[in-house]
Amino acid sequence: MELWFTEKQTEHFGITAKVRETLVTEKTGFQDLAIIDTVEFGRMLVLDGMVMTTVRDEFVYHEMVAHPAMITHPNPRRVLVVGGGDGGVIREVLKHPSVEKAVLVDIDGRVIAHSKTYLPEIAGWLDDPRVEVIVGDGYMYIHEHKREYDVVLVDSTEPVGPAVQLFERGFYAAIHEALKDDGIFVAQTDNPWFKADLIRKVQKDVREIFPIARLYWANIPTYPSGLWTFTMGSKKHDPLQVDESRIPEMETRYYSPRLHKAAFVLPKFVEALCAE
Ligand code: SAM
Repeated sequence: MELWFTEKQTEHFGITAKVRETLVTEKTGFQDLAIIDTVEFGRMLVLDGMVMTTVRDEFVYHEMVAHPAMITHPNPRRVLVVGGGDGGVIREVLKHPSVEKAVLVDIDGRVIAHSKTYLPEIAGWLDDPRVEVIVGDGYMYIHEHKREYDVVLVDSTEPVGPAVQLFERGFYAAIHEALKDDGIFVAQTDNPWFKADLIRKVQKDVREIFPIARLYWANIPTYPSGLWTFTMGSKKHDPLQVDESRIPEMETRYYSPRLHKAAFVLPKFVEALCAE
């Protein structure tokens, strides 16, 4: 008998993947967790029925959450990751030699534990001595920290359950307060095909709070519509003013000095979401 995992990305549309093996399932204190081994994309972390990361395409998402901000900031030493319990964003952050301290705050310790066990190629850097892992609510944490971080990266689930507050204006305003005077933040902001209203709202909020607000995108095949966006808010440094010749060639498979600015060139229907 064949086993297939299906994620309904909308009421009427979804993706399906053939499953080799179900490695673990658990109803945690916050969400339904499963790690499955799929034929096409390898091991896959699923939360509340939604694909969070897969061994085959995770590099795109994790590189694109981290590097545009880490490169735009001239000397990122203290970095905060909100969510990101699979450890992929931390792995990319630690590729920057300037980093002295990287703090990860994920609300669900079970995601961290299972990722370490079943996704070592993603979570294997969470025990680095520069990393502090905190199991807690990122919304609360950010309100308790002022002027402490150079870069804040929000790698949350979609705006459901414990992550709803992480897409609210108050959260972005609190991030502004948690950043130093020349700080930068990036948050994943879903896709323009099925979540255009969310992108419009977040872009409007961030434009009102930060002097520099940008949207960029990447292709992630297992995420809804495959076209994923990221919102950047910056207090001083503009990613479009970065001198590409200053961007070091890093150990990456998606992000590159040439792609840094290209990722901010948006298709017209996506650009329109930022203009309104
Ligand atoms: N890349 C994935 C995506 O774009 O959908 C997200 C992956 S990451 C595993 C998402 C993490 O956000 C989960 O581990 C979840 O526990 C965490 N999370 C959700 N709400 C949170 C909150 N309020 N504070 C901290 N972490 C939260």
